[in-house]
Amino acid sequence: MCLFCKIANKEIPSNAVAENDHFFAFHDINPKAPVHVLIIPKKHFDSFNDITAEMMGKMTTFIHHVAKELGINESGYRIISNIGEDGGQEVKHLHFHLLGGAKLYWGHFADADSKDFF
Ligand code: AMP
Ligand code: ZN
Repeated sequence: MCLFCKIANKEIPSNAVAENDHFFAFHDINPKAPVHVLIIPKKHFDSFNDITAEMMGKMTTFIHHVAKELGINESGYRIISNIGEDGGQEVKHLHFHLLGGAKLYWGHFADADSKDFF
C-alpha cells in the first residue's frame, strides 16, 4: 500500500483538514505557502492520468469545499497536480496541492532557459 493510501486509511497520522467518503485533505508536511494542503482520492490512482472524468467531477466539488473551509476561496489560491517524471511527481498517488494564504509567486518552471523553449 502506498504512502497516501496509508494516510487515507489513518495507518499513518496526518494533520487532517476535511474528508468525505471519497476524498481526504491534509496539510503538506513541507509547506511551500502559508496554506499548503494535499487533496487525495481515498481510492488509489497513480496520477491525474488515471482518474475518470466522473471521479474528477466529484473531486472538484470537494476541492471547492476545502478552499472554503480554509477561507481562501475569495482571496485566491492555486491547485497543482504534478504528473510523472517531467511533472516532478514524487508520491505516486494522485494528489492536488492547494496553495494559498499569500500572493503566490509565478515562477520559471523548467531548468532550461526560456529563450530555448521556442
Ligand atoms: P509531489 O512532489 O507532487 O509528489 O508532492 C508530494 C508532496 O507530499 C510533497 O509536497 C511532500 O512534502 C508531501 N508529503 C510527503 N510525505 C508526506 C506526509 N507524510 N504527510 C504530508 N505530506 C507529505
Ligand atoms: Zn495509494
